[in-house]
Amino acid sequence: MGLKLALLAGAMALTSTQACAQATKQPAPKVSRGQVALTFDDLPGLTLKADQAYVDGLNRDLLRGLKRHHLPAIGFVNEGKLEEGEFGQKGRIRQIANLRRWLDAGMDLGNHTFSHESPDELGGAGYIADIAKGEPVTRQLLAARGRKLQWFRYPYLETGAPLAVKRQISDWLGQHHYRIAPVTIDANDWLFAEPYDEALAQHDKARVKRLRGQYLAYTERTIAWFQQASQELFGRPIPLVMLLHATRLNADTMDDLAAILKRRGLKAVSLEQAMRDPANHTRDDYAGHDGIEWIERWSESLKRPLPWDSWQDPPKQVEQEYERNNQDRRNVK
Ligand SMILES: [Zn+2]
Repeated sequence: MGLKLALLAGAMALTSTQACAQATKQPAPKVSRGQVALTFDDLPGLTLKADQAYVDGLNRDLLRGLKRHHLPAIGFVNEGKLEEGEFGQKGRIRQIANLRRWLDAGMDLGNHTFSHESPDELGGAGYIADIAKGEPVTRQLLAARGRKLQWFRYPYLETGAPLAVKRQISDWLGQHHYRIAPVTIDANDWLFAEPYDEALAQHDKARVKRLRGQYLAYTERTIAWFQQASQELFGRPIPLVMLLHATRLNADTMDDLAAILKRRGLKAVSLEQAMRDPANHTRDDYAGHDGIEWIERWSESLKRPLPWDSWQDPPKQVEQEYERNNQDRRNVK
């Protein structure tokens, strides 16, 4: 678990943001029919480099893939990415067009703060201001379709610490009619996405293939872990909420991801639908600084253990590739 936290901490350095020798296919145990809500963070896109055409293309292909497999989804927006200097004013128009594309495809949008900062960095009041700053464009796009902005996702899954700050933020969200989107499957897709962007940019076909294989194998294994963990917590399958990011990697692997969901017995449903299950409203008492997903939070609240013995961290090789990029990064959003 320590490593998992370390990886999340590593992601904090990101402001933007599988072959496969060891990725042998493991037969997964059969499960009864379950549900999963797919959620994509860091819209309009998490990419290694600020390249508008690349961001536009990944959104188009991601949405095509979701529609091809009849998968509903919600995208969580960082409106700060609409402002970025590299893209200029024209970039802003194209970034907003990407958000519109999600709604045109029948998907929902939510708020992921303006700047994707940690509550530890901004403090309670500053963090709340960053949530408010992150909503006008998304709210307007939804309103133009007679819909309401209602979902919020915490960047880095950090909900604020200590408890007073956590409460300050969650109270504000409640008063402003936001609903908090939990995360109950986290397969660290962001970790694989950046080396994948790099491999594509370098036309390194072997590395592209290896990373896809590693990503998909890790994702399938991790989904199975979260199914088992939630089953142990609640004594039954609950609708899961999967964290993904708007990346080229997910756009390119959507057929495989859809096949994994099918193999795991998971039907994709809207976040709204998944949140109808009372299990997804279990009390969250965690008020620490680490960004942790909700299965772990609920394990603390319910005082029931999780099957950590079977948890597996992402491949070391990919971690190292990610870290190397982070050290080298120059022109990253
Ligand atoms: Zn994020």
